[in-house]
Amino acid sequence: MFEQFQYLNDQLYIEDVSINKISDEVGTPCYIYSYKSLKDRFEGYVDAFRELEPLICYSAKASSNIAILKAFSNLGAGFDIVSIGELKRVLKAGGDPQKVVFSGVGKTDIEIEEAINSNILFFNVESEEELHKINEIAIRLDKKAPIAIRVNPDISPDTHPYISTGFKESKFGIELSKAIEVYKDAAKMQGINICAIDAHIGSQIFDLSSFSDSIAKLVDLANKLIIQGLKIEYIDIGGGLGIKYEDKDNPPPKSEYAKIFEKHLKDKPFKLVLEPGRSLMGNSGIMTTKVLYRKEGSEKKFVIVDAAMNDLIRPSFYNSFHKIIPVNRTTAKDEVVDIVGPICESGDFLAKKRLFPKVEPGEILAVFSAGAYGFAMASNYNTRPRAAEVLVKDDKFYVIKSRETFEDLVRGEQIPDFL
Ligand SMILES: *Cc1c(COP(=O)(O)O)cnc(C)c1O
Repeated sequence: MFEQFQYLNDQLYIEDVSINKISDEVGTPCYIYSYKSLKDRFEGYVDAFRELEPLICYSAKASSNIAILKAFSNLGAGFDIVSIGELKRVLKAGGDPQKVVFSGVGKTDIEIEEAINSNILFFNVESEEELHKINEIAIRLDKKAPIAIRVNPDISPDTHPYISTGFKESKFGIELSKAIEVYKDAAKMQGINICAIDAHIGSQIFDLSSFSDSIAKLVDLANKLIIQGLKIEYIDIGGGLGIKYEDKDNPPPKSEYAKIFEKHLKDKPFKLVLEPGRSLMGNSGIMTTKVLYRKEGSEKKFVIVDAAMNDLIRPSFYNSFHKIIPVNRTTAKDEVVDIVGPICESGDFLAKKRLFPKVEPGEILAVFSAGAYGFAMASNYNTRPRAAEVLVKDDKFYVIKSRETFEDLVRGEQIPDFL
């Protein structure tokens, strides 16, 4: 089982709170996060990287509830953001803008302006066009915008193609071979202050050699830029460390991950920036769902539950595996089932051909590894309100986002006069 989740008297607990109790009071589906888990994982990074003392910028898109952001901010984290909405969340949560890095290929004028005015640490610039735009806006504001160029180190880690971001054909970053020229151009721009180099090669990566190749290329580039007289203070290696979804998964320990960077950065004048998301939150949260029906076709058995692809899209979108177990431990016999939601799409499933104990309507299931890219990717498809979110600490739980209501869903919609 994942840390902070265990059976006690045949009932599943998160820290010292019964998941049945949360389900009774808050309903299903519900996202439930363990404070201790996210804290331990964050401190795991701090400890593994104590030689380098990096700035750890939690990637807000993984799970962006302001309570989660506040928890990380209190632990000393900075933030990797990809929109001005995320910056506003960080600021609302009391995060320090001087610890914020701003990534993303399509920053708008307004986003750039607000980020400059908020005094973020640096922009991760993803194209020459964006560099020019940031320069223009900074000059207009009579400021200097701090930047890193996000380089594309042309590395293809072994992960799902949708979450691989550092190979040559990817939309992210600037090709490494062009980077020096772009930096030299940037150095001449009045509104630009070069301070860093950035890469992010993808997500759910187990193969440490991909990270090793990436940091080697970045350090090499940084050295070349320094020879050219540029100032490089930070090397931002992005996020991407993988986590255990299936029992057979064996992600590398943080200590091994940290060693790679130590090897390349020890006694070098660069401060490391990390942007972990999944590895902090993925296994710190679950989604609960209630069994509505069992249905037996001639070919297949289905368990129909009250959570759907709008609540957790990862199985449908990436064909990803999530461990699912009943919250009340059972000795019922296993059968092979598809666990599916109520949405009118054949792609709406949480698990396919899963060996699962026979469960009855009304039972609560826990879907593991849902703390990252879970609620954050939820939608209202089929006019389904988004789930509630709960944060547990010790023997208490706190609703950090209430379940949406019908009024939330139709807010802003209006019927024109001619109808
Ligand atoms: C998504 C993302 C991350 C976080 O990746 P994880 O795999 O969740 O650690 C970090 N940096 C950037 C630029 C990203 O887009």
